[in-house]
Amino acid sequence: MKTILLHGPSGCGKDTQADLLVDKYGFEKIVTGEMVREMYNISDPDGLKAYEYWGKGAFVSDELVYTMFPKWLERYDSTKDWVFVSVVRSAGQIALFDNLMKEYNRPLDAFVHLKLTEDIVIERRSLRWTCPNCGATYHKKYKPEKVEGYCDKCGKTLIQREDDTLEKTKSLYQEYQKTIMPILEEYRNRGILIEIDASPSIEEIQKEIITKLNL
Ligand SMILES: [Zn+2]
Repeated sequence: MKTILLHGPSGCGKDTQADLLVDKYGFEKIVTGEMVREMYNISDPDGLKAYEYWGKGAFVSDELVYTMFPKWLERYDSTKDWVFVSVVRSAGQIALFDNLMKEYNRPLDAFVHLKLTEDIVIERRSLRWTCPNCGATYHKKYKPEKVEGYCDKCGKTLIQREDDTLEKTKSLYQEYQKTIMPILEEYRNRGILIEIDASPSIEEIQKEIITKLNL
């Protein structure tokens, strides 16, 4: 069984890549956001606590996240390959993740980092518009709506989400760079860092991941 951490800045397509690993290679995909929502839905005490923060877009403490993980992981097939999406988000979480995987007797095989330059992140994010009614997303360059400014599906006026504005995209990217550096450093020292250029097409990125992971 392989155990993979998949990471990258917003807009790098990590979710799509993880989904492809699930569909084509039978991986289990494990995501923190889903865990918090679901643990909240089943009224798990830690889930309720975490959602107080998460629901407001605030930071859920490392300790709380990693208290939930052992309970959450019970629902995944431990005989399968696992891909965790953005689960180690700070240097402080590296040791917590190590301990967690020790309990499962699953050494980490690779930290896959999907790399993007700031310019590309800005292009992908700041040209993105969203329908507030049905959630459809459009992109001025890659996926423009048919009638400018209006949703193809339901006709509502499109909006730009705050996280997609130019200013916010820039500051999120810089924040990301700062936090990812020590994490990359650690996994590079362990010899399990795989860096992949996330600027080409979904298919090309996938091919690169498959090759580098020997799948
Ligand atoms: Zn719509």
